[in-house]
Amino acid sequence: MTYDKNNIFAKILRGEIPCKKIYENDFVLSFHDVNPQRKIHALVVPKGSYIDLDDFIKNAKEKEIVEFFKAIPHVAKILKISNIDGGYRTLANIGSNGGQEVPHLHFHIFGGEKIGKMVS
Ligand code: 5GP
Repeated sequence: MTYDKNNIFAKILRGEIPCKKIYENDFVLSFHDVNPQRKIHALVVPKGSYIDLDDFIKNAKEKEIVEFFKAIPHVAKILKISNIDGGYRTLANIGSNGGQEVPHLHFHIFGGEKIGKMVS
């Protein structure tokens, strides 16, 4: 499977499509989901071109991996939904059975209210 440079998150990363940015550094971009499923619904994406978690862990540099996973709790802190503020859920959909729609690795962050059943 090859990376599709025209996926929507690649366009957001190139600045071709706007987003409501939450956080950015050299390795990641985080922004609000356009169609929030909970009161707070953020996305965290690596800046590198990785299709999914399998591709990322296989091909990314260790620094990219560390910075990506560090960004998730950092974004939660910015959004004031860390454990001390009630907590949140993070998840990644991988492939068609996982329900992945955008073929650029992303973690969802849900918070601001009870998230509910883990899988529906
Ligand atoms: P997936 O199903 O791939 O895990 O999740 C893709 C997510 O991307 C969905 O929650 C969807 O609402 C979000 N999304 C799709 N297009 C856009 C967009 O143009 N901007 C933003 N901010 N989110 C998007």
